[in-house]
Amino acid sequence: MNDCLFCKILRDEIPSVVVYENEYVKAIKDIDPQAPFHIIILLKEHIEKPADITSENCNYIGQAALAAAEIAKQEGLTDGYRLVLNSGSMGGQTVNHIHMHMLSGRNLGWPPG
Ligand code: AMP
Ligand code: ZN
Repeated sequence: MNDCLFCKILRDEIPSVVVYENEYVKAIKDIDPQAPFHIIILLKEHIEKPADITSENCNYIGQAALAAAEIAKQEGLTDGYRLVLNSGSMGGQTVNHIHMHMLSGRNLGWPPG
């Protein structure tokens, strides 16, 4: 057991609104949404940050992208969506357990602020 916020959500020790789940990921509604549709896809493996992805654990990232495609169908996001991985302080990462943001429901600007 560890103290990581997202590990606690994965263990159902902290409540969340689950949108999708399989053996690799659990997708939940973001508590502070930045778009009409904003979920975070939590990897069911405590990897701290994208910079720690290796050839051994990279399957989880592929599974998260696959889950996003499934969720887009499930939620009818036919006009597209954005996937974001924040890594480290300059990347804007605040929770040190890899998660993929999935945003949709409005036109998202580029470049990000
Ligand atoms: P990041 O800044 O990329 O590390 O993203 C962390 C995200 O987790 C932010 O968008 C937060 O709003 C979100 N978040 C933090 N705590 C919770 C929680 N208990 N349930 C759902 N989302 C959360
Ligand atoms: Zn964790």
